[in-house]
Amino acid sequence: MKSIAWDIWLYCNYDCKFCNTKTKILPDKIKSISEILNAWQNIHERYGRCKIYITGGEPFLYPNIFEIIKKIDALHDVHITTNLSFEIDMLVSNKISNKNIFINTTFHPFYVSLDTFLSKFIELQKSGYQSSVSYMCDDLQMSELLNYKKVFDSYGINITPSVYNGNNNSNNAVKHFIMSDDITCDDVKKDSIINSTFNYCDAGKCYACVNDSGDAFVCSVRREKLGNIFDNTFRFLENTIECHNKCFLLENKYSQKDIL
Ligand code: SF4
Ligand code: SF4
Repeated sequence: MKSIAWDIWLYCNYDCKFCNTKTKILPDKIKSISEILNAWQNIHERYGRCKIYITGGEPFLYPNIFEIIKKIDALHDVHITTNLSFEIDMLVSNKISNKNIFINTTFHPFYVSLDTFLSKFIELQKSGYQSSVSYMCDDLQMSELLNYKKVFDSYGINITPSVYNGNNNSNNAVKHFIMSDDITCDDVKKDSIINSTFNYCDAGKCYACVNDSGDAFVCSVRREKLGNIFDNTFRFLENTIECHNKCFLLENKYSQKDIL
């Protein structure tokens, strides 16, 4: 299944100092529901059911987001990253199916108390939604992560440190201590990729990264344009590309060190 990460918009109600994708200013103009649905319908017709990672900004603040999710969900699997500031019962009252949707929540301790976040996350789980908790790896907020982790652990909830935008300069001792408990194949691959000189990568062929204007790119680092989803010029690449970047991205799961 092909994957597309989509910044639905950049507006966010939080103002995390380490975040370089958000804005506090509401855009003058946004894409209408029909423009959005046409775009995802066209992609469905060309590539079948894909996995759409909706991110931002804060996606749940986008006007008519529940209707948008419901319609996209009929065409593609939906994964949404959110700061969980919305009311959980809106998912149920808007009849959002928990079948194809995955909600990745991020805990931001500068903006929400641990108790409030935890109770909302537990409500999300009780409502049957597949979900996870991430924590942004930035020195501004790494010092308390071990304590937060103990509390999440006591509820049987895993909290995953998340590296963003190629930033690997955060408090590595804390990050690696936590990751060592829960090492995954992707993490092992990530370490091997960081140390390699180049990789072949399926980003662009199996994955694309779309900004709030609909422009599509190979990944968050490789900015070769793949067209635009709103004017139906978006196309995945035919072939795997060679990449010489040191890749710290979650997208590095598309790289293929094995075939070197
Ligand atoms: S909640 Fe997410 S999108 Fe909003 S400012 Fe923080 S990191 Fe950026
Ligand atoms: S290896 Fe990383 S930086 Fe290079 S194309 Fe793949 S995802 Fe992008």
